[in-house]
Amino acid sequence: MSNEYDVVVIGSGPGGYVCAIRCAQLGMKTAIVEKYNTLGGTCLNVGCIPSKAWLDSSERYYETVNHAEDHGISTGKVKVDVAKMSKRVAGVVESICGGVSYLMSKNKIDVFHGMGSFLDANTIKVAPTTAEGKEETLKAKKIVIATGSKPAAFPGMELDKKRVITSTEALKLEECPKHMIVIGGGVIGLELGSVFHRLGAKVSVVEFADSILATMDKDCSKEMTKICKKKGMELYTGHAVTSAKAKGKKVTVVATNNKDGSEVVLEGDYCLVAVGRKPYTEGLGLENAGVKLDERGRVETNDHLQTSVPHIFAIGDVVKGAMLAHKAEEEGVFVAEQLAGQIPHINYNLIPGVVYTWPEVSSVGQTEQQLKEAKIPYKSGKFPFKASGRAMASAEADGFVKVLAHKDTDEILGVHMVGPRAADLIAEAVTAMEFRASAEDIGRICHPHPTYSEAFKEAALVATDKRGLNV
Ligand code: FAD
Ligand code: NAD
Repeated sequence: MSNEYDVVVIGSGPGGYVCAIRCAQLGMKTAIVEKYNTLGGTCLNVGCIPSKAWLDSSERYYETVNHAEDHGISTGKVKVDVAKMSKRVAGVVESICGGVSYLMSKNKIDVFHGMGSFLDANTIKVAPTTAEGKEETLKAKKIVIATGSKPAAFPGMELDKKRVITSTEALKLEECPKHMIVIGGGVIGLELGSVFHRLGAKVSVVEFADSILATMDKDCSKEMTKICKKKGMELYTGHAVTSAKAKGKKVTVVATNNKDGSEVVLEGDYCLVAVGRKPYTEGLGLENAGVKLDERGRVETNDHLQTSVPHIFAIGDVVKGAMLAHKAEEEGVFVAEQLAGQIPHINYNLIPGVVYTWPEVSSVGQTEQQLKEAKIPYKSGKFPFKASGRAMASAEADGFVKVLAHKDTDEILGVHMVGPRAADLIAEAVTAMEFRASAEDIGRICHPHPTYSEAFKEAALVATDKRGLNV
């Protein structure tokens, strides 16, 4: 095969592989370069998919142990085999990554396994990362950087990847920790903290900000604080971790209270460091192509996702914006369609965020705090799941749906929820907002009864003018 391409994509995560598929669909000769042996990037290998598989398995166990009796189901002693659970997760990952390989061949995309780096602005070297691999040189008219991100850590956090671990290792554990100390009460901290808490671990979350899920709407953070505490998770908010060390099978974490400077010392058998992720550009040779980074180490891009070199683009976690798989995918399609001469569009305000705890948390548009800061006049409608027939029937009464609408026009500006299947329910809000629906529009649309989706309709009715059940 000739190594000259219309487009070479570096990185096969949800940004890269979706971009490559769209490029191929639009008639471009496309190659993708991936340093690992499997395709799919963080999302499929060590991110979204394995974490959701663990969340699902652990929730089944937790429900059986804690709530089967409530439904009149007696099970006897329920046992959990964490190693087997971990094996199931690995199986899910293997099959879904295989699916991406199939999609590459179906779309006639050439796949090169090895570390991609720029020799110059149109030439990529692929250096083998395995003994069987061979070095290749690819020429490309356009190049898309989709190299994603890596877990971050701060000085004092001594990641040995055995006891002081990141999400990557946590997703491969074959035993349940006795006491897992989680640094960071963000998305990963709460999702993976929940997994091991459900499986029987004591979980202590240490969070620098004054609340967990600090960047979400304050009502969601408050509700999740209540729920996590009720379930028995220990939360140390307003505490900065200054050191995390392992000695043998023991980990010691030291945190300082932001208000009074007092120290908390926690001891456990595992420490999960979940303090954010950083863009991954090491070894890419960006300097050989003249591609610039911004002040936070991300590949600098303009509104067209073009880097400082016009025929080189960058997408996903390696550029500014939310580090989310669906954001990376949107950007992959956006770049491919631009390369084909189209004029695509991404509405960054309407990229939803989800936390897959149980109950789930989801959000789209602006938070109440952002509306206040921007001095946008708004009204708010809230509906609690405890007033939903479906939620009561399913014993899922925690949480609420909150709709924020413009005070004068009634246009929906933000939707925030904590509740059963909030991850799926948010899609209706995204659709409504993409079509610039008013809260009254949603209130006038027939929603099936009894479903969780009625909570969105009811919250919208309350936001409009305190109509509906307005409990
Ligand atoms: P990545 O998925 O990181 O892929 C980049 C790829 O590039 C990698 O395969 C890497 O090996 C490769 N690469 C890097 N450098 C080179 C090089 N020089 N040469 C060749 N290849 C290279 N997001 C959600 O939306 N929903 C979720 O539920 C969710 N859950 C998550 C759970 C966890 C535990 C984690 C860690 C993340 C989660 N995310 C989730 C975030 C999501 O995984 C990322 O936002 C997404 O994977 C970013 O996609 P990407 O294509 O930009 O990069
Ligand atoms: P995050 O930004 O969500 O949370 C990190 C938390 O760590 C923050 O709340 C921060 O205040 C805290 N922190 C930082 N330094 C600290 C210190 N010294 N002591 C105590 N707390 C400290 O990051 P994350 O949870 O690591 O997730 C990384 C990325 O992965 C996120 O951007 C997220 O979007 C993505 N992700 C998404 C999902 C999802 O969509 N469901 C799931 C997992 C990960």
